[in-house]
Amino acid sequence: MSPASTTALITGGAGFIGSALVERLMAQTNWRIVVYDALTYAGAVANFAAFATNPRFTFLHANICDKAAVANAFATYKPDFVFHLAAESHVDRSIDSAGDFIMTNVLGTQVLLDAARSAWAGRDGVRFVHVSTDEVFGDLAPNEAPFTELSPYRPSSPYAASKAASDHLVRAAIRTHGFPAIISNCSNNYGPRQFPEKLIPLIILSAMAEADLPVYGDGGNRRDWLHVEDHVDALLAIATKGKVGHTYCVGGGEEFSNLEVVLRICDRLDELQPGARGPRRDLVRYVKDRPGHDRRYAINALKISTELGWSPRRSFAQGLDETIAWYRINTKRWEATLAGTNNGQRLGSNAAI
Ligand code: NAD
Repeated sequence: MSPASTTALITGGAGFIGSALVERLMAQTNWRIVVYDALTYAGAVANFAAFATNPRFTFLHANICDKAAVANAFATYKPDFVFHLAAESHVDRSIDSAGDFIMTNVLGTQVLLDAARSAWAGRDGVRFVHVSTDEVFGDLAPNEAPFTELSPYRPSSPYAASKAASDHLVRAAIRTHGFPAIISNCSNNYGPRQFPEKLIPLIILSAMAEADLPVYGDGGNRRDWLHVEDHVDALLAIATKGKVGHTYCVGGGEEFSNLEVVLRICDRLDELQPGARGPRRDLVRYVKDRPGHDRRYAINALKISTELGWSPRRSFAQGLDETIAWYRINTKRWEATLAGTNNGQRLGSNAAI
């Protein structure tokens, strides 16, 4: 298949990771790119404004649960690759209300699988990359070995359970129908354009404004952080070199507690723009923990590194600096976004803070 004849359909392409993938494919390939996105609170046309008028780019404003719209997208654009990223993605929201997570993450995934299977019958070389999370594996004890492709599924939150269900549906399609899918289970991402309900952008924007910095519980929950551009590298390696039917664990190999991440952001911002309220570390406020909060995630990325030659290109220190720089330049955009969403109310706590 020559690159010029390649079409990629990217669900969730208006979101954080999807838009980074779209940007890369527009810059480094001559593929035709079709973004399929419902533009929930987490998606924004601003995320692909730079190439909205490029003839290689098409935006379909539609829901993945809409069978007719999904079938029409396959019939019209005949994608060679599907990168499935559309999802409800915020754990706290899933604790307050799981319905949308079941609809999009579970039902929507099955709608896509059915449409792809029907449209791709008899076609070779096509690939469905199902983008999932390490949260499906539950949490790790402090000295337990990191997750691998063989880790058992033990989701803790409604979000993780809905992603686990979607993984199982993809695995079932592979096993039952010989469907050409590959699954990635990736650790926590950070980087430009992440919606500021997630830890890193929330803390950057709050710390820039010298507002209080909420830290759940004792701040000791540990995550393996990966820059979104490194995740994009992994998804492209998986799509083009990965083995159909396989799962790949993707992670940055750098674990930090939430408190360590928050303090790093405070210190970096103090260097860049000293605050009127004194050191930003003093703005940390410990708040009631998230119910069911997983204590630790960590990824063993040996399989993708040895089989596909992937490894992260950025250290956490470098990626965090770049991310802070991006939010400093783009602050205005997020002030408007935050004002239009949940007005700063705590989500998913089951209690006022
Ligand atoms: P995001 O919340 O930033 O973006 C999700 C996108 O999906 C948005 O553009 C939204 O409009 C769209 N969407 C939601 N429901 C839809 C529907 N029913 N139909 C069509 N579009 C819909 O999410 P993200 O952080 O970019 O994550 C993308 C994918 O990667 C998700 O599947 C998530 O589970 C997975 N993932 C995320 C991380 C992370 O740290 N962010 C880590 C591992 C895996």
